[in-house]
Amino acid sequence: MPDRPTGRPDRRTFAIISHPDAGKTTLTEKLLLFGGAIHLAGEVKARGQNRRARSDWMKIEQQRGISVTSSVMTFEHEGVTFNLLDTPGHEDFSEDTYRTLTAVDSAVMVIDAAKGIEPQTRKLFEVCRIRNVPIITFVNKVDREGKEPFALLDEIADVLALDVAPMSWPIGMGGTFEGIYDFTQNKLNLPAKNDSGHYEGDQRGFSGLDDSKLDEVLSADGLAKFREEAGLATAAYPEFDSAAYLSGDLTPVYFGSALKEFGVAELIGALADHAPSPQPQPSAAGSVDPDTKAVSGFIFKVQANMNPQHRDRVAFMRLCSGRFKRGMKLLQPSTGKAIAVHSPILFFAQNRELADEAWPGDIIGIPNHGTLRVGDTLTEDEAIHYTGLPNFAPEILRRVLLVDPTKTKQLRKALDDMAEEGVTQVFHPEIGSQWIVGVVGQLQLDVLISRLDAEYKVDAKFEASPWDTARWIASDSEADLKAFIGTHRNAVAKDRDGAPVFMAKDLWELNYHEGRNPTIRFTATKERA
Ligand code: GDP
Repeated sequence: MPDRPTGRPDRRTFAIISHPDAGKTTLTEKLLLFGGAIHLAGEVKARGQNRRARSDWMKIEQQRGISVTSSVMTFEHEGVTFNLLDTPGHEDFSEDTYRTLTAVDSAVMVIDAAKGIEPQTRKLFEVCRIRNVPIITFVNKVDREGKEPFALLDEIADVLALDVAPMSWPIGMGGTFEGIYDFTQNKLNLPAKNDSGHYEGDQRGFSGLDDSKLDEVLSADGLAKFREEAGLATAAYPEFDSAAYLSGDLTPVYFGSALKEFGVAELIGALADHAPSPQPQPSAAGSVDPDTKAVSGFIFKVQANMNPQHRDRVAFMRLCSGRFKRGMKLLQPSTGKAIAVHSPILFFAQNRELADEAWPGDIIGIPNHGTLRVGDTLTEDEAIHYTGLPNFAPEILRRVLLVDPTKTKQLRKALDDMAEEGVTQVFHPEIGSQWIVGVVGQLQLDVLISRLDAEYKVDAKFEASPWDTARWIASDSEADLKAFIGTHRNAVAKDRDGAPVFMAKDLWELNYHEGRNPTIRFTATKERA
């Protein structure tokens, strides 16, 4: 039995996954408002505007500096502390976005009621699925015309191969919107009658769908349609099942409007009631329970600081066990050295505060000069070594063209360093001598180019490559793998660890090869050694 640290407070460490414009920023603001971190609301918006105006390196740096403060947002509600980890969308999309999802215990998936499942939501969902991260769905913008609830629920179920359990139901949408019925508590949220259009606490309890008092608050048409739909929904979809949710097989679905603050309180309630508290984390020697006394955590993200001249970095560590105290010495197994964490940053609202203590599920920012790398473990107990912070198949592949050929060595060092930091992935083709860099988002590429120039004084260019996507390849049959590599030598490369990677022009070509080579496994992620 692990020696349990006393008084470990309750945490919900989660991220919001969504496609741009679905309403993540708006929902974040409203969650923070509910959590009392009101002053942050403006900050989130400011960042959104800043993001749109950005065009050059200074602005990237500025944005990266600013986003340090909004990378983790902490708020409290009724005795539970929520750590909301930002997963940048838009052009900020990078491997960091994916890796952040390895540091959460659950996710909220925000869907625009008019658009349903969009590409980025799907990509982020797939990353959650690798680890069976439990997902609560929030169908946003019901104050506008949207798809029918049944169509939305079926789309989620079909596209994501996930059971859906509607927890609430909108009565009409857009112009016919009358309110949201909460199935779990038999309550109806009604829009305020004043001009604000916001829900202002007019919430009524009923005995059930047949309650005649519903006639008094809903229109005859609205109520008839609602009763029919609710009846059908109860028959068509499974009931909420906590075990199925926690194993990532079922998502409870809430309807609402972030803009009008509809359904936000219910969402916080759902997170508090159903979302998992900090979970055991996989390590080389088995999973580590959060109640283990030894302090330990892993770095899931490293962010460069404002000043490109200094190699100042903030490493983001997810605390996995023990009770962290400022000044504590922690072992970094990858180097065998101990580092004293004198000035950890804990993220409370927009303030960066020095942390005196932190608990499993909390995120600590650790300023350093490049010693801490993505995937590193920091621990009091040398037996703990976290594994499996994965690499993700790149979606943008570029050939590296060195402008000054005498700088080959510098280029190799720069690419190696940055690959290790997780800024990019580097591949060596079987044929030819040009390196290929792979990223999942354009911003990652911009950062790479800027840093090559600013930090390594290497003038390099990136050329289009014939490939658009890549997969790690493996097989139980070594002969089959060898044969496959032999026939596709021009599209095969090795990653930093020497693992073979197959590059394809597009998904169609990839699917074609997958179909023709059933003994070869094509994987979109690679667990790190
Ligand atoms: P993000 O890109 O996912 O962060 O989306 P934003 O939160 O920036 O929202 C995108 C747009 O949708 C903005 O114009 C919001 O005002 C709007 N929006 C967000 N939530 C709602 C909602 O519940 N109803 C309506 N009608 N608009 C919304």
